[in-house]
Amino acid sequence: MNYDRVLVRYGELSTKGRNRSLFTNKLKKSIMHALREFPNIRLQVRHDRLFIHLKGTPFEEVKEPLKQVFGIQSFSPVVRTEQNIEEIQAAALELVRKNFSKGKTFKVSARRSDKQFELDTNGINQAVGGYVLQRMEGLTVDVKNPDINLLVEVRKEGVYLSCEKYPGATGLPAGTSGKAMLLLSGGIDSPVAGYMMMKRGVEIEAIHFHSPPYTSERAKQKVLDLAEKLTAFGAKMKVHVVPFTAIQQKIQEKVPSGYTMTSTRRAMMEIADEIRRKQGALALVTGESLGQVASQTLESMLAINAVTPTPILRPLIAMDKLDIIEIAQQIGTHDISILPYEDCCTIFTPAAPKTRPKLEKVQQYESSVNFEELIKEAIENTEVIQLPEEKAASEFSELL
Ligand code: ATP
Ligand code: MG
Repeated sequence: MNYDRVLVRYGELSTKGRNRSLFTNKLKKSIMHALREFPNIRLQVRHDRLFIHLKGTPFEEVKEPLKQVFGIQSFSPVVRTEQNIEEIQAAALELVRKNFSKGKTFKVSARRSDKQFELDTNGINQAVGGYVLQRMEGLTVDVKNPDINLLVEVRKEGVYLSCEKYPGATGLPAGTSGKAMLLLSGGIDSPVAGYMMMKRGVEIEAIHFHSPPYTSERAKQKVLDLAEKLTAFGAKMKVHVVPFTAIQQKIQEKVPSGYTMTSTRRAMMEIADEIRRKQGALALVTGESLGQVASQTLESMLAINAVTPTPILRPLIAMDKLDIIEIAQQIGTHDISILPYEDCCTIFTPAAPKTRPKLEKVQQYESSVNFEELIKEAIENTEVIQLPEEKAASEFSELL
C-alpha cells in the first residue's frame, strides 16, 4: 500500500461561513499552480480538509512545492481505508513496517471527526497500537517523542493513515485578500515586502520604473527574475515596466538636489496609483523600512503619501535589515537582488538627500513643472509582462 493521496490541513478560523468557499477555491488554485508540472493530480475538497489525489505522481515530488503554498497549516501523504477496524489495523501495520528500523519507537495519534464511529480516539489508539505492537518485534512505545507517529484520521467518507506530517507555509491563500500593486525595484527589500503581503493572501501585480539608457536591459531582466521567483508563492503575476527617464531628467533639472529623491518617489506613487486604479487593485506596497536610508523617514513618508489617499502598505517598516536579508535568502530572491545592475534610483541619487523633507517645499518646487503630461505619457508607454511565461494554472483540470 503506497501513499496515493495527500491530506491537506488548512486553518479553520479563516474558513467560517461565507468565506469558506472563497478560501478553498483560492487554495485549490494555488495548489494547482504550485503543482502545475504534474497534470495528473486531482483535487478534492471535503469540509475542513483538501485531498490531492496523486494518480501515480510520487509524493516526494510534490512535497517541496506544497510547502510554499500559503493557507496550508500542514499536510501528510496518506493511504485510505474504509471505516472498519480490521482494515485500519492492517494498513497501520503495513505503514509502520515500512518505516521501522531497529530501536525505533512509536505511537498512534488518532483523530475522529465522525463521532458515529464505533471507537473513540482512545479506543482507536489502543486497538491500532496493540495490534501493531503484537506483530512487530522490537517496536516500543514512546508517547512523548516517538520516531514513528502514526496518524489515524477517521472521517465520514473514510479513514486516512500516515507516518508523516509536514508544516505548511501558513498565511492565507493567494487572492483571498484582494489585489495590491508592489513597487518592485531590483533591491533586497521590495521582493520581501511583496512576499509578506502575498502571505496574507494579497494578490500582487508589480510595477517597475525603468530609466534607459541610464539603466540597462539586464537591470530590467533582474526585476523580472525577482518577480518570477515570487510567482512560486502565488500564481501568475503581471509586471508593469514604466519608462521613467523623462520624468527623472525633468526632476533633476527643476528640483533642488536635496529634494529630488522625494519628488521621484512622489512621481512613482502617482503613476503606481493610476495603474492601480486601472487594474482594480486596492493598495500600493513598498519595501521601505524606517530609517534604513535617508529617504525612509516619517517626514519623507508624509511627503510621499500626500500624493494619494490610497493605502500605502509598508510591511517591512519595523524590520531590521538582517531580518529582511534572512527572509530574502529563504525565498530565493537575495542572490538575484545583490547582482550589481543599477536601478534608476541609484543613478539619480543625490549626494545629500533631505532626511526631513517638508511637504510644502516639495509642492512648491514641483509647481513649476508640468508633470501631468509626462506622467500620462509614461503610463501610456508602460509595458506589461505576464509571468511565469508558461502554461497558466487554469488550463489544468480538477476533480470536484
Ligand atoms: P529595495 O531594496 O526594495 O530597492 P531600498 O532599501 O533600496 O529598497 P529605496 O531605494 O529607498 O529603498 O526604495 C524604497 C522603495 O521604493 C523600494 O522598496 C521600492 O518599493 C520602491 N522603489 C524604489 N525604486 C524603484 C523602482 N525603480 N521601481 C519600482 N519601485 C521602486
Ligand atoms: Mg533600491
